[in-house]
Amino acid sequence: MAKIKQLSPYEAQKIAAGEVVERPANIVKELIENSIDAGATRISIYIEDAGKKLIRIVDNGCGMDITDAQICFDRHATSKITHVDELESINSFGFRGEALASIAAISQITLITKEEHSLEGTHVTLNPGYDAQLKSVACNTGTDLSVSNLFFNVPARKKFLKTVQTEWRAIQLLFNAFCFDYPHIHFSLFTENKQVNNCPATDNLKNRALQILEPTSFQHLIKTTSPENSNITINAIISDHQHYRYDRSGIYFFVNKRWVKNQHLGSAFIKGYANVIPSGRYPIGAISITVPANEVDINIHPRKEEVKFLHPKKVEQVLQEMVTQTLERNLSTHINKEVTLTRPASQFEPSVSPKNEHFVPFNFDAFFAQQPLKNNFPTATSSPSPSAPTPVPTNAPQPAVLNDDPLPFNNTQTDKQQSLHAQTQSTVTKNSTHVISEKQPYHLIGQYNKTYLLIEKEDGLFLIDQHAAHERILYELFANRFADVATIQLMFPQTITLSEHDITTITPHLEILIAHGINIEQCGYNQLMVQSLPVHLKDQSITEIIKEMVGWITENTLLDTAEFKKTINHKLQAQMACKAAVKAGDTLTQETMQELLSTLEKTANRFSCPHGRPTGWLLSLNEIEKKFKRQI
Ligand code: ADP
Ligand code: MG
Repeated sequence: MAKIKQLSPYEAQKIAAGEVVERPANIVKELIENSIDAGATRISIYIEDAGKKLIRIVDNGCGMDITDAQICFDRHATSKITHVDELESINSFGFRGEALASIAAISQITLITKEEHSLEGTHVTLNPGYDAQLKSVACNTGTDLSVSNLFFNVPARKKFLKTVQTEWRAIQLLFNAFCFDYPHIHFSLFTENKQVNNCPATDNLKNRALQILEPTSFQHLIKTTSPENSNITINAIISDHQHYRYDRSGIYFFVNKRWVKNQHLGSAFIKGYANVIPSGRYPIGAISITVPANEVDINIHPRKEEVKFLHPKKVEQVLQEMVTQTLERNLSTHINKEVTLTRPASQFEPSVSPKNEHFVPFNFDAFFAQQPLKNNFPTATSSPSPSAPTPVPTNAPQPAVLNDDPLPFNNTQTDKQQSLHAQTQSTVTKNSTHVISEKQPYHLIGQYNKTYLLIEKEDGLFLIDQHAAHERILYELFANRFADVATIQLMFPQTITLSEHDITTITPHLEILIAHGINIEQCGYNQLMVQSLPVHLKDQSITEIIKEMVGWITENTLLDTAEFKKTINHKLQAQMACKAAVKAGDTLTQETMQELLSTLEKTANRFSCPHGRPTGWLLSLNEIEKKFKRQI
């Protein structure tokens, strides 16, 4: 029996629509591109429920007459080409005659449009499967197109739409990209009838950046151009060495005036900032690349979001060099202006890089080269290679040695040492005669370089990194014993102002912060307010933690819910611990040092900080004696 049936055009079109429309942002893109093609100088975008309920684009372009207003929703209806050979050469956007037909197949449409010299405009309503309803209206020149109830007739697709926050964010990124790409167009963005961006036309890209990026970025933006000796031209606005984000969402690429995504371009751009901004931080930039049309393929992606270059390495090289040179030039200007430049702390870099090793008269790090563990701490003995030490794999599971005494975090002392004192009070054994383990007595010699505790033991000299050790103590407390952590009501609530994008990203996850004692809520459309904090963070600004969290969320959206929660919790706990811990450079009293050691002794995973750095090293007596030739 014959099994093949011809699908009705209505069903077939719903399926075809999937090629063009996967999410609301795709529709926004197609419609904005149509408005640009229509010569609009003003484009307003109205969104409701992240586009699921409404996407409305109003432009002042050339508009359509009554005939075009009817047929523009037919398949293959386009005013932009008549032959397929023209595809290569046209500069207009989008699918050729596919977009409106696809959008109209999976939503309800209202179109109001008028050409400049017409006395009246046309009003069209369209419901998939039904004939269009037409009437004349009085309206402005241009086109006002509303797309309502996306996927109302394709529930299977509707189910795959992401959360309102994710879809809205995709629209915002797209909006920003168009703003960068077309500074001469006045763009505005509204959500739930509230204007969130207003970007009047400008001929200055830096002004454009100011309109859409967080205001603090502006002073850190540099306008730059690639050298003029190749057929690749790059014009860009990029951030300087002092500004960065915690995710890649501030990086936009345009190739021959199209917003594109290309991982390799992203990596080349970020590489240009190597050693200039800390690792795990990302610059911002709007980078417009122009290459000859025959050296780039924009058709590899159905929605034309990705590009393939004929010579990708060359493009990446020009980009990376442009960034490096721009930053160097910018840095030397800063230095000439006697701006003191401190190299950003790349927290976990070896302090001696292999490059300048021979300029270091005495390689202290090499002196402490890694050796097998002894007493569970890395020991320092002679190493065949003088390279900087690799931290030992101290993340290996360690026996949990938490005792049952509650750590008294319910004090409200501000000073970290007092606080540390309080944290450890109840865990210091009465008979705390400097014992790090039952068998091995120790003597605390003191603090070296306001960073390391020096401890004399029978079998050698211990160095404990005060920050790493305290970080581990606090991390274990935050991760496992949070009920023991006291919070404190702030006398003056902290307000944190974020960009629209950051607010949208973090708001759905505020309960993670709340679960960690950070009582936070949204107040105003781009502000958060913190009312209370864990007592250890009392004197800390938590803006940095919040901004970092935006980055973690953005970078981990692909994880499943359980993994996502685990990752964000870990990062938050580690970051809170890092903020609240004593720092390198803090002078510690003898008493505080003793307490730090006693608490560390009882802490699980105590041989590394939550970021994987070792908390301590042992320089064995054996080794010391060998160095002094007392032993062979
Ligand atoms: P394409 O853009 O590839 O031609 P579309 O389906 O996106 O295909 O649009 C069909 C046609 O409708 C366009 O070619 C254009 O003539 C007309 N059109 C669509 N949007 C607008 C607009 N905002 N202003 C004027 N004309 C428009
Ligand atoms: Mg189009």
